[in-house]
Amino acid sequence: MAENLKDCCVPCKITWDELEGLCRLEKLYCQELNVNRANVNDYEVEFLCDYKRNKGEEFYFVKWKGFPESDNTWEPKRNLKCPKLMKLFHLDLDQVLKRQKRRGLPKSLDREAALILVQKAKHRQRLRQWEAHLNKTRNHPGRIFVTNDVDLDGPPKHFTYINNYKVGPGIVLNEMAVGCECKDCQKEPVKGCCPGASLHRMAYNDKGQVRIRPGEPIYECNSRCNCGPGCSNRVVQKGIQFDLCIFKTENGRGWGVRTLQHIKKNTFVMEYVGEIITTDEAERRGHFYDCQGSTYLFDLDYVEDVYTVDAAHLGNISHFVNHSVSVCRVRSLHISRLFYPALLATRSVRHKSLAIHFVTKSNPVPSPSGVFQPVGASHKN
Ligand SMILES: [Zn+2]
Ligand SMILES: [Zn+2]
Ligand SMILES: [Zn+2]
Repeated sequence: MAENLKDCCVPCKITWDELEGLCRLEKLYCQELNVNRANVNDYEVEFLCDYKRNKGEEFYFVKWKGFPESDNTWEPKRNLKCPKLMKLFHLDLDQVLKRQKRRGLPKSLDREAALILVQKAKHRQRLRQWEAHLNKTRNHPGRIFVTNDVDLDGPPKHFTYINNYKVGPGIVLNEMAVGCECKDCQKEPVKGCCPGASLHRMAYNDKGQVRIRPGEPIYECNSRCNCGPGCSNRVVQKGIQFDLCIFKTENGRGWGVRTLQHIKKNTFVMEYVGEIITTDEAERRGHFYDCQGSTYLFDLDYVEDVYTVDAAHLGNISHFVNHSVSVCRVRSLHISRLFYPALLATRSVRHKSLAIHFVTKSNPVPSPSGVFQPVGASHKN
């Protein structure tokens, strides 16, 4: 019987944290949960909730990992080995006391202050969980970080991270049918490699930067090409290469994205990924988004028809890029006869927030450097 059940599994209804708590409570060892003889009696601090001083000794009210809040306990500072959590707690506490216009560390905190500190700790946890989820979902090398030091806004409720375009109902995209026959697309391009087939130039220099003028098409190599993944004519298809941080802006513009690495001028940053929808559907959604004051719609040029990318609910990190001062230029890339938007750095950026300029109904004049250029064409697999 047991053998018959070998490949069966039942989803667990409780979280890993709760399981770990149960193990410790029952003194059970578990390799997967890292509970063993040496640490079964160690309890992990999840976050600190409150603070007080009594006869010169400092105490913290502790939320224990894997245990409900009803099991929180006051612990003397000397018993706690969680310097990082303590540092975060005091940073939050300083902010709270500043807002309350209080000086120095009080002997005990009022209810309101303790409540805010718990909210902040839980908020930080939600962001960490979201960050972990984003990094688990991404299929690109560039890591994603999340910070919000401005307010208690958590992960957006109606947004799902996707790596590739989702084709909406009523849309059929044909795959590219041609590839090149080069042995080395950079050094010995046969008949001009993939761009040559459409009488265009190679788009990238040997550092992967786009060297052709805005307006000229980009044709990347694809699954039908003779070359392999190491070909220099494959850039966008390798996905986001830079570590980026989603952060809450201080000027009320919602979330933004900043780079944590140096991005050189004319380097590909990310694709504008979303759901591909028909013109009619875009029109319908557009009215709704315009009323909300934000748009995630991006028109695509297609050979016979016009489609739109909607990144409002499904998208990659480009969903969070602010639409204003232009650091990124958007170039379109041709995949299965459809022009896709890709964001390029219009200048060298280092630890700066990225932004793109969108043309919307309420803001019809494009800025000169960050406009979607319905120009590029490249095929990729
Ligand atoms: Zn080639
Ligand atoms: Zn090729
Ligand atoms: Zn190639």
